[in-house]
Amino acid sequence: MTYDIQPAGSHYIDGAYVEDTAGAEIPVIYAATGARIATLHAATPAIVEQALAAAERAQAEWAKLSPRERGRVLTRAAAIMRERNHDLSVLETYDTGKPLQETLVADATSGSDALEYFGGLAASLTGEHIPLGEDWVYTIREPLGVCVGIGAWNYPTQIACWKAAPALACGNAMVFKPSETTPLCALKVAEILTEAGAPAGLFNVVQGMGEVGAALVTDPRVAKVSLTGSMPTGRKVYAAAADGMKHVTMELGGKSPMLVFDDADLDNAGGGAILGNFYSSGQICSNGTRVFVQKGIKEAFLARLSERLKGAVIGDPLDEATSFGPMVSERQMTLVQGFIEKGIAEGARLVTGGKRLDRDGWYLEPTVFADVTDDMTIAREEIFGPVMSVLDFDTEEEAIARANATEYGLSAGVFTSDLSRGHRVIGQLRAGSCFINSYNDAPVEAPFGGVKMSGVGRENSKAAIDHWSQMKSVYVRMGDVEAPF
Ligand code: NDP
Repeated sequence: MTYDIQPAGSHYIDGAYVEDTAGAEIPVIYAATGARIATLHAATPAIVEQALAAAERAQAEWAKLSPRERGRVLTRAAAIMRERNHDLSVLETYDTGKPLQETLVADATSGSDALEYFGGLAASLTGEHIPLGEDWVYTIREPLGVCVGIGAWNYPTQIACWKAAPALACGNAMVFKPSETTPLCALKVAEILTEAGAPAGLFNVVQGMGEVGAALVTDPRVAKVSLTGSMPTGRKVYAAAADGMKHVTMELGGKSPMLVFDDADLDNAGGGAILGNFYSSGQICSNGTRVFVQKGIKEAFLARLSERLKGAVIGDPLDEATSFGPMVSERQMTLVQGFIEKGIAEGARLVTGGKRLDRDGWYLEPTVFADVTDDMTIAREEIFGPVMSVLDFDTEEEAIARANATEYGLSAGVFTSDLSRGHRVIGQLRAGSCFINSYNDAPVEAPFGGVKMSGVGRENSKAAIDHWSQMKSVYVRMGDVEAPF
């Protein structure tokens, strides 16, 4: 089965595609060529209303099903998604520009893992019995209600599924707003959920820019908001949600450290640094963009890294041999070029890369800076592009202190052959998702999320359940009520 790039409608509401051309035009640009491949429209207030009303209706019906029945719909959706992995991966490549070599293994596959995991977990989501002598309390795990998901543009299928799967497993309904840069993939997630048996209105997709997200976040019918996006947007959305006392999950940005000690396996550390800086052209929130390398091995590390970067196959993302694709948009490419210029101007040593490629599309070379100091802009701000900063250090204590000296706290990694040091150092790094002798693995079984300005709440794993449900406690008295008067 193949998918047309132009969807049958901009939005997916109440189990069907919907269009309203009165909304602002959203051009979908293929990052590898700069060509327009589809045109969608932003949601008008009428579309937002339709989606919220549909979600409210569907949630009431969905919550009445047994959790096992809900789980069955999700596991069915996981199977459909896996069967269609190839076509969904091609669509993900058109939406984001990421190479097919990546999208075949990291997007619909990760989405179906989430649907399968939470589908399997659904039937075991129970309350508990708390004995109090003659009396007792029992708890009921209840859904929150209508939830809103708002996505970033780097992993549109994965983000939609990481939010929808636990939300729906817990008995909620969702209205999801993808990033206007990548509006296509979430529509396929909605279609597949309907095909798998989800009631109409359970998972709706509305397109639009920030103001559509803001309209959803402030609606009194909405019980929870889960955002994947930048820290400044997170601040705004968190504040708006607080006004309505809504639950939130905030998956925000990072400036994560990767510590390479002089006893590390250089090939593994180099591989981790490549995965943590250049996969998806560096457009990953958890990337280890501050690579702290112990002084004695710095030049050997840089030499080995530069050698390996020559092996990057930069080209047509739809060719499976391509391992490095374009930036998602011209805007993002320009932002990243600005950071590269700042790195050079502030005195960092450009080891490799730094230039835009002379071809159509938004291609930047994989770029490595060395001799980066903690105060440089490229060491402080999230770049969200293929730019690695290598900093050097002498002692373990110093590396930990400098690694923690950031307002962010999403991820952290340590490469060392001394495992006690690995655990000791990770124990002191202030980050939510950490790695020892690895980088950027994100299995659905593991909690994912940040500390400090990188966010609140956790996605994936059993931990996500607490963020998509609430406990009701019921006190049961067996005897008479004793009142003072
Ligand atoms: P943005 O913060 O710009 O946007 C995120 C989403 O929020 C978009 O859908 C955007 O709409 C929407 N939005 C913007 N303003 C508002 C508002 N006032 N109210 C409600 N919604 C709003 O992030 P990007 O899309 O540029 O994504 C990159 C960022 O995402 C990086 O900082 C990255 O670190 C982070 N990220 C975090 C991840 C994590 O799990 N921790 C994973 C992936 C990315 P639109 O853009 O359409 O206007």
